[in-house]
Amino acid sequence: MPKKVNILGIKVDKVNIEQASDIIIDNIKNKGETISVFTPNSEIIMAGYRDKDFGELLNNADLLTADGIGVVYASKIVKNPISERAPGYDIACRSLEKLAEIGGSVYLFGSKPGVAETAGENITKKYPGVKIAGFSDGYFDDEKEKLIIEDINKCNPDMLFVCLGAPKQEKWISAHKNELSTRACLGIGGSLDVFAGTVKRAPEFYTKHGIEWLYRLIKQPSRFVRMLELPRFGFKVLLKGKKFPQDKDE
Ligand code: UDP
Repeated sequence: MPKKVNILGIKVDKVNIEQASDIIIDNIKNKGETISVFTPNSEIIMAGYRDKDFGELLNNADLLTADGIGVVYASKIVKNPISERAPGYDIACRSLEKLAEIGGSVYLFGSKPGVAETAGENITKKYPGVKIAGFSDGYFDDEKEKLIIEDINKCNPDMLFVCLGAPKQEKWISAHKNELSTRACLGIGGSLDVFAGTVKRAPEFYTKHGIEWLYRLIKQPSRFVRMLELPRFGFKVLLKGKKFPQDKDE
């Protein structure tokens, strides 16, 4: 089976949550070069399709996983199916479980002031063994950004969560990856809000039926305009998806 699926020019890794977290943790254990992990949903893949530079940035990630049922459906339409979603929050949770086993550390960067601290407290309770290397909120100017990078490098965390929302976090990680002292940078959107308990994850009913987007829309109606990308993505994949070449079986 090919290792990646090409969806509108964006090459998504065909990995599940377990495999994605293994890649992250193995890199930590092997003290490898810093890797970037992005988890695009259909909206972000559409952004990469529309904007060539952003598409290239996504394709340059070390690991690009399918966050969202739309991406899984798209992979089926182009006849190179991904078996299941690998959302950022789930990859983060599984990686924390494995990080706890090796007594590793994580730095929490992003969200509104105070959120990362609360997320850190909850992570320590849920995953004893994980060290919180440090934290910073996600609202900064150039000067504060420098201090944040200095702080991350001083803490030298095994793993760095960057939760600035998409596409800001993907751009930030790509721009700074080479100057960061960490083994893995994960761009995982609103995950710190979920760890902190300020935002609830969709109940199982919604995730099971592939309608998590509906739950988020009910909770945050302001997302409506963003979500119009979903049907556009669907039509685009139906019309053009098969024109993008898929890797040959390996
Ligand atoms: N955020 C941030 N800095 C910014 C803009 C947003 O730290 O300049 C945070 C925001 O507080 C929230 C997260 O980024 O915690 C975005 O969450 P969302 O669920 O909207 O992520 P997305 O769906 O965009 O990946």
